[in-house]
Amino acid sequence: MHKITLIPGDGTGPDITSAARRVLDASGARIEWEVVEAGEKVIDTYGTPLPAHVLESISRNGLALKGPLTTPVGKGFRSVNVALRQELDLYACVRPAKSLPGIKTRYEDVDLIVVRENTEDLYAGIEHRVGKNAAESIKIITREASERIARFAFELARREGRKKVTIVHKANIMKFTDGLFLESARRVAESYPDVTAEEMIVDAMCMKLVQTPENYDVMVLPNLYGDIVSDLAAGLVGGLGVAPGANIGDRIAVFEPVHGSAPKYTGMDKVNPLATILSGVMMLKHLGEFEAAARVMRGVTAVLHEGKTVTYDLGGTSKTSEMAAAVIENMR
Ligand code: NAD
Repeated sequence: MHKITLIPGDGTGPDITSAARRVLDASGARIEWEVVEAGEKVIDTYGTPLPAHVLESISRNGLALKGPLTTPVGKGFRSVNVALRQELDLYACVRPAKSLPGIKTRYEDVDLIVVRENTEDLYAGIEHRVGKNAAESIKIITREASERIARFAFELARREGRKKVTIVHKANIMKFTDGLFLESARRVAESYPDVTAEEMIVDAMCMKLVQTPENYDVMVLPNLYGDIVSDLAAGLVGGLGVAPGANIGDRIAVFEPVHGSAPKYTGMDKVNPLATILSGVMMLKHLGEFEAAARVMRGVTAVLHEGKTVTYDLGGTSKTSEMAAAVIENMR
């Protein structure tokens, strides 16, 4: 029995996490859920969107499936998602982007994994106003965090039989910060002679990804570039509705869709549950539940192939819950 923390989340979070929960419960994996609430809805009760007992639950179980949490833009509390990753030292953000059958996109053979550093860079949150008309943000890059994420990316490539890791940076301009990231990743690459290491400046990377995404395999990036490039990669394979992700540390892993809480669709049972279901598939594989993961994938593939019971973003009219039910029906 796997005990897993479930955070329903804000906005559309409860719709998509309950859909994913039903699918995972039907997958054959034995899961006991510990549901804890975080985000906007708990601020009045606990005075914080991220109460200590939520972190304690994730820490104790070592695993969580998480719905998106809303962060107000330019005001209020710091991003709960960023705080959670930093508090639990979930240093590696893993976001695969793989072409799925039945989803019409401009590309056919995309199979990328974006590995994003999750704890520092401009996300360190050291930012302030300088007088009335200026503001300043400090970019933190350390050798320790850069080597750690590079090692994670090369280990992942080796474990999954991938051929190439592209180290993405802007060291031509940010010679100290990105320079250190690049230097650290190069050093790590030397220990993996069986995996090709390639270097790419982030702007060129974006252009190449939209021209020839099939040429790329695993990419490793500092935090901010990783955030942007992973949304770009999601766009190559059908958009945010189908983009799963994981935040992984040495002892704890939190699985969540790449997308946010899509607040305008709150309570409408409308958005695509696949990003969360596929995050659940990543979680099953992380647990070694490969049979259950394959069963869910067979359900997902069949539903996409048929193309009838899909949500609005995939050209259908089905509800979140109906699409999840169709996945379950097609699992065998
Ligand atoms: P968003 O990802 O929530 O939504 C942007 C648009 O993408 C939506 O309006 C919708 O059209 C589409 N979309 C998103 N998810 C979809 C799905 N599952 N199916 C179909 N369409 C989908 O981005 P946003 O509006 O910029 O952010 C809303 C809130 O979410 C913000 O407060 C932001 O901080 C937060 N956020 C949280 C996380 C997280 O919890 N990890 C990640 C990103 C954003």
